Amino acid sequence: MGREFNRIDMADLSFGSLKDAIRNNRIVENYGYDPRMGKYHLTGCARCYRAYSLEEATKLKMRCSCGGQIKKGVKSRIEELAAYSTPHHPKDRPRYRYILPLAELLSTIHGKGVTTKYVQSRYNILINEFGTEINVLLDVPLEEIAKIDGDLSGIIGAYRQNRLDVTAGRGGQYGTVRYG
Ligand SMILES: [Zn+2]
Repeated sequence: MGREFNRIDMADLSFGSLKDAIRNNRIVENYGYDPRMGKYHLTGCARCYRAYSLEEATKLKMRCSCGGQIKKGVKSRIEELAAYSTPHHPKDRPRYRYILPLAELLSTIHGKGVTTKYVQSRYNILINEFGTEINVLLDVPLEEIAKIDGDLSGIIGAYRQNRLDVTAGRGGQYGTVRYG
């Protein structure tokens, strides 16, 4: 899957129209992998995965009540470096959307691990039918997805409406998608 990409409004597939689109700010949308899925997004314990605020963790000298080591998360580092306390999105910049791996969504709705044969075969059926993961995630009509996987169309619909919850990763444990 693509981790970072853009949707650009181009007259045709040529370098000239790409240049033209960038010059005239016809970038429709920016996309990137949801950082909350990462293993060290929040500050948290590497043994029991309890999440901590950085202040709390610092007070505890990075030692969890279970005895495990607390690992500082990417988010805490971002907050240290950030110039604003709340995110500022420039008005002239197109929307930024987080993307989630299709295998992760299949894993969530079918209650089976990402690397299981079951999830892999469901994934392959979708790719054979619709070409790419990004296409399934963003563009294929839900009715079309439902013909192949009714449960998946529900979670993709929720994703498209920004209704999916992600439990952020911490302490070496990946983030997980919550649905229903
Ligand atoms: Zn712990």
